[in-house]
Amino acid sequence: MDKLIHGLASDSTVRVMAAITTDTVREAVRRHQTSPTASVALGRLITGTLLLGSSLKEFDRLTVKIESEGQVGNLVAETVADGKVRGYIKNPLADLPQRTGGAFDVRGIIGKGMFNVIRESGFELGLHREPYKGSVPIESGEIAEDFAHYLMKSEQIPSAVLLGVLLQPEAPFVTSAGGVMIQMLPTADPNIAVMIEDTILHAPQVTTAIKEGASAEDLLKMMLGVIDYEILGEKGVKFECNCSFDRAVQLIASLGKTEVQSMLEEDKGATMTCGFCSTVYTLDENDLQRILEKENS
Ligand code: ZN
Repeated sequence: MDKLIHGLASDSTVRVMAAITTDTVREAVRRHQTSPTASVALGRLITGTLLLGSSLKEFDRLTVKIESEGQVGNLVAETVADGKVRGYIKNPLADLPQRTGGAFDVRGIIGKGMFNVIRESGFELGLHREPYKGSVPIESGEIAEDFAHYLMKSEQIPSAVLLGVLLQPEAPFVTSAGGVMIQMLPTADPNIAVMIEDTILHAPQVTTAIKEGASAEDLLKMMLGVIDYEILGEKGVKFECNCSFDRAVQLIASLGKTEVQSMLEEDKGATMTCGFCSTVYTLDENDLQRILEKENS
């Protein structure tokens, strides 16, 4: 099962997170039927969002939204405290030829735009506390660098972010996926940052290590080298949406009586597709009739 861990390193002056997200990204790719380049983009965003949200508390929700002017359009990932994550991609078929050397041209399908981070709390309880929103222009479009750029510019946290998705030509398409995030706290010794940078430079690729069986903690060790660390929390991770038939009914009902009446008369039903998980909800005549009866009562 996929896993997300977080902890502290170097006498609590460095915050560290690592995740294995192979099954989660596979599920996202299966649901959205993404092209190879779009699969890598969505997988990196999902993994980065999980890492950034590693210490979310109950009722917290973290959303990372890339508003892209490129062919992929908007790209969104959303996670909550229990490790559930979901993702949306405007154009799942966005694709470009691989670059020389075989890298997927994620930057090419994203292009320019904005990188937004939204932190909310208590939303599900109906507590409408003002969400925190931080936005920076897209720096590289390769996503890992964009997380690092966001952390630096918006939260003043120097960090290293590694996000990887390795693909194969046949199902289940995703061979391995995961990542590491290392954040320097204000008390961190600058020499530690240099050491970590050097270790990362010489470390094997995250996706290769995961393919060969590395755990989330193994990834951390790989990137920290001789630096001491302690794990403070770990949780399972999976792709799961919070949509449901009931929510689809509520949404249709919210369109108002006239609209529902016309759906009933003209279409004899209504169909809704969830953007986050591609689940299709079909309401038949009886369902629409029930909505109208409720509105009248
Ligand atoms: Zn859904």
